[in-house]
Amino acid sequence: MTEPSPIEPSPIDNAYLRAAVDAVLSACDPNSGDLPAIVQAGHPVLRARALPFTGQLAPDELARLIDIMTATMRAAPGVGLAAPQIGIPLQLAVLEDLYEVTPENAAARAREPLELLTIVNPRYTPLGTELASHYEGCLSMSGWQAVVDRAASVKLSYDDDHGTARTATFTGWQARIVQHETDHLFGTLYIDKAHPRSLCANAEYARYWANPDIAAAKAGLNF
Ligand code: ZN
Repeated sequence: MTEPSPIEPSPIDNAYLRAAVDAVLSACDPNSGDLPAIVQAGHPVLRARALPFTGQLAPDELARLIDIMTATMRAAPGVGLAAPQIGIPLQLAVLEDLYEVTPENAAARAREPLELLTIVNPRYTPLGTELASHYEGCLSMSGWQAVVDRAASVKLSYDDDHGTARTATFTGWQARIVQHETDHLFGTLYIDKAHPRSLCANAEYARYWANPDIAAAKAGLNF
């Protein structure tokens, strides 16, 4: 028996990256509302390991791509967007969580506002062993959500949009966003880590399980 081979990264090379970036930069302009489509589960780039950023884009191209991704994330609306979600196999993501939530919801999910953050070549490591279990969704799996157990706190190493190496710690909902978006850059979707029986279509979630904590869903769906 041999282990199944990992997803072949061979089609995902710098030529592929260049073509994908050119397609987005030539067709999109956040000022006129021309935004890229968010690709859905089944798109191969979502399942590939994205290429580390090593200077393949000129600084002005990277800045434009970040602007486009930020506008796309806000329009969706979402709290994060990774480059593979617009078909670009690059280790780049934008995160922002400034939505108003009820105090009850914020407390249950340890949800604190997150200012716009751009992360390049990120890696996270859990801090401690505490896990948090909550419903989450993904702009690339539109219409669904499921419960994922994630590290309650993580340390993130990344480069910022100017290429400066940084480390930061994140807890609560911010830590969840960081893990979800970084996972995208390694071909992992939240459904890979979710409790399968927790899976909900959005309408059913809203009808039955839209509580800040998952206790009722856990009992009602048997996961
Ligand atoms: Zn996602």
